[in-house]
Amino acid sequence: MEPAVTIIGAGLGGLVLARVLHLHGITAAVYEADASPTARAQGGLLDIHDYNGQLALEAAGLLTAFDRIVLQGRQAMRFLTPDGTVVFDKRDDGTGGRPEVQRADLRGLLLDALPAGTVRWGRRVAGVRGLGGGRHEVRFADGGTVETNLLVGADGAWSRVRPLLSDAVPEYAGEAYVETYLYDADTRHRAAARAVGDGSMMAPGDGKGIFAHRERGDTLHAYISLTRPLEWFDAVDFTDPAAASRIAREFDGWAPELTALITDTDSGTTLRPHYGLPLGHRWERVPGVTLVGDAAHLVPPNGEGANLAMLDGAELARAIAARPGDVESALADYERAMFPRTAEVPRDEELMESLFGDNPPEGLLELLAEQPPGPPR
Ligand SMILES: Cc1cc2nc3c(=O)[nH]c(=O)nc-3n(C[C@H](O)[C@H](O)[C@H](O)COP(=O)(O)OP(=O)(O)OC[C@H]3O[C@@H](n4cnc5c(N)ncnc54)[C@H](O)[C@@H]3O)c2cc1C
Repeated sequence: MEPAVTIIGAGLGGLVLARVLHLHGITAAVYEADASPTARAQGGLLDIHDYNGQLALEAAGLLTAFDRIVLQGRQAMRFLTPDGTVVFDKRDDGTGGRPEVQRADLRGLLLDALPAGTVRWGRRVAGVRGLGGGRHEVRFADGGTVETNLLVGADGAWSRVRPLLSDAVPEYAGEAYVETYLYDADTRHRAAARAVGDGSMMAPGDGKGIFAHRERGDTLHAYISLTRPLEWFDAVDFTDPAAASRIAREFDGWAPELTALITDTDSGTTLRPHYGLPLGHRWERVPGVTLVGDAAHLVPPNGEGANLAMLDGAELARAIAARPGDVESALADYERAMFPRTAEVPRDEELMESLFGDNPPEGLLELLAEQPPGPPR
């Protein structure tokens, strides 16, 4: 029998959707381009917020399991100036509302919570088309097709489902991360490890920044942020080990323990340009189809994307369960709440308040007045 809901994409949004549907006794099939759960590295740490991502995990009945994968101590946070001065240093005292997990662990948790066979691996969607009456046909790169009464695009930034609803395409946001990893940092990269501390480290500069997380064990994952046109990055060969010193040149005069996060990379350099859809992206209701997560509201990394994708998944599932036999009302309910929820980028003041309450530290305020803070958050 045809599953009730056809989901494209087994990212965090699509998987929460499938899980919460399952809890309500509603069948779903998730079609995923990757050949297997381990086909692609899943990226670094995610802080899962008590006001969105954790609510989704609660709806998925997975909060206790989530607690088991939280990396203890990683809510520690410090800000450094480019010369290496620590202007703010907060230990993880266990009271923060943004516990950190490895993205792969979170995805694994969700995958394990689905009935076997829910995710159909290695099924890359090539195109979709309306058949009328709210039905859609999904065409795969392998030549196969499926038809469905309820199609959900959870297929991220470059969604193949989005064109059914909107002409919007992601645009380059003017900045990119260059990612590096430093392994065994406490023994092999001591100065950098001390600079990063136990959790997140942010060293913002003018149109640039060095940000890092301490991942599981003593792996450091750094995000080197640069505001440059795409053509500037095109001129750098990121497959060449010399790319690290080229990027480090942009940080001449910065403290060596910070630039070590570039020059001492154990993983080479990976370029990640930031793209976004127009803020407040929305569409008119189209029968039988909707979007969750980045497919609906991609923005350059701001610490909310994965959290919002999961909340979308949970809320859409709840809306579908609340309106048995009335797909259109369910999708309208979901979109009515989702559009405003995702139409605003959190402001720096909101971030500061969520981290420090009414009393942000003085040195930090001065640094941030000169330089806007950057992710990771
Ligand atoms: C460098 C970086 C750091 C970030 N840090 C954070 C953070 O700290 N906190 C946070 O909340 N967010 C963060 N984000 C944002 C977050 O990663 C995304 O917002 C989130 O992953 C969106 O989830 P999703 O399920 O909508 O899409 P995705 O996670 O992109 O999942 C989409 C899935 O669809 C699949 N797919 C794509 N195309 C097809 C196709 N044609 N056919 C079949 N399957 C397809 C993909 O393989 C993928 O599995 C960061 C993003 C970046 C780039």
